Amino acid sequence: MTARGQAGEAGRGRMPEEGGEWRPDPAGEMEAVIGLEIHIQLLTHEKLFCADVPEFGAEPNTRVCPVCLGLPGALPVLNREAVELAVRAALAFGCAIHERSVFERKNYFYPDLPKGYQISQFKEPLATDGVLHVRMGEGLDDTFPVRIRRMHLEEDAGKSIHDRVPDRTAVDLNRTGTPLVEMVSEPDLRSPAQVRSYLDQVKRILEYLEVSDCNMEEGSLRVDANVSIRPAGSVELGTKTELKNLNSFSGVERALEVEIARQVAVVTAGDRVRHETLLWDERRQTVRPMRSKEESQDYRYFPDPDLPPVWVAGTWVEEIRRELPELPEARRTRFIEVYGLPAYDAGVLTSRRPLADFFEASVRARSGDVQEAEVAKEVANWVMGPILALANARGAPVEALGLEPEAVAELLALVATGQANRRAARTILERMVESGSGGAGAPAAILEAEGLAQVSDSSRIEGWVDEVLTAHPDEVTRFREGERRLQGFFMGEVMKRSRGKADPGEVARILGGRLKGG
Ligand code: ADP
Ligand code: MG
Repeated sequence: MTARGQAGEAGRGRMPEEGGEWRPDPAGEMEAVIGLEIHIQLLTHEKLFCADVPEFGAEPNTRVCPVCLGLPGALPVLNREAVELAVRAALAFGCAIHERSVFERKNYFYPDLPKGYQISQFKEPLATDGVLHVRMGEGLDDTFPVRIRRMHLEEDAGKSIHDRVPDRTAVDLNRTGTPLVEMVSEPDLRSPAQVRSYLDQVKRILEYLEVSDCNMEEGSLRVDANVSIRPAGSVELGTKTELKNLNSFSGVERALEVEIARQVAVVTAGDRVRHETLLWDERRQTVRPMRSKEESQDYRYFPDPDLPPVWVAGTWVEEIRRELPELPEARRTRFIEVYGLPAYDAGVLTSRRPLADFFEASVRARSGDVQEAEVAKEVANWVMGPILALANARGAPVEALGLEPEAVAELLALVATGQANRRAARTILERMVESGSGGAGAPAAILEAEGLAQVSDSSRIEGWVDEVLTAHPDEVTRFREGERRLQGFFMGEVMKRSRGKADPGEVARILGGRLKGG
């Protein structure tokens, strides 16, 4: 039985599938307090202190050199690009960038740490005192602040591999020296759901900034969660535990639910929560203590004598600030205000930068002489509906469908001018994606080639309507006796007879007349 099950039996920690807001304990007497430490792998071309090129999945120990292996005499040289990406991220989270920061050695022994120390920032980090306003809901004010304590630069360690050599643990040092930013929040989060929203938003911002690819499976985003409980409304902090080995955002959420329920059960039983590091076991959905030997660390930090302090000029910071892209929240607000989109649409369309770019380019192409706001909702419906559905069906992002915004605009124009009905337009869209011909001119060409042009000619539509009504005399009688919902049935039959090409507006008009007239 899992800890989750046990906690449930103890009557503690109502689980989210039971519905409603998740609470640490059903009586609502306890609240959870959570702070996160996130390791973000930077998308630099080279490592932090040497010119090796990090590459996920490369043959083990082929992306190493004397510097990252810590061979005697090798000296580290700081990668300017890593500092720039770190500054960009720190600015996006509202941090103060310090003109001077210091690299220190964090000393510990572990097989994947060839130098016997990790170069990190400790007493004087690159950036501190940021804040992220995390959205929970769609209203303008549906946010809560999470303070960012610090963001500092450090190098990654290597990886122990347990499944490559039988009965042995192997070490791959390719990742050693890869640049990371560690982002530490204050304990401002109060539930696993808030944590999820925070993480989603952090990831979205980092992707917009092109600072990290945030791929959790490949380890380019790693999360440790610190959690404690306390009487609801109290301001003092309880004793925290630290959760490690969290491999997905949903894993973080589940692990926290389980751990909070465990802490509530401990306290309810009259015991105290112990300060310890716990490992999340995804398969068993439970936490277990890390061996205390692994936990008790004295890192003996001291400034790295091979690296002078880092100086980041204010003018450089301002340059980086000016070049920051529009961030997702600002873009979402603009989509609502400038395009007049519903908050929901704006949220979906700005969830990824390439998607938002695709939408905006399509709006621009479609608008021509009219105001962009006039066509924005129409474009949004097509992008969020059929186009995203096509992308999802292929497991590909929208920008990989090969659809040019101009072609999207042309397709929508075919619908607007009555040359194609919606169903035909969806077929055209599918053909464009299937055949990889999503460029300008394609919609009209496919319409022509596949005979998908909409039929608005009333005499042809009257013919189909009459055929349908003659074939279904019983339904006609029932309709006239008041069974109005049969309207949909007749519509469907007529569309079928037209092989999808009839103008639905015309069909409805003619059907209406015939059914009334008798
Ligand atoms: P430690 O000294 O154990 O490293 P820190 O004070 O450096 O702890 O904080 C590390 C992380 O733990 C931060 O993200 C912080 O917000 C969080 N944290 C600190 N104290 C608590 C607490 N009592 N409950 C929950 N989270 C906490
Ligand atoms: Mg700490």
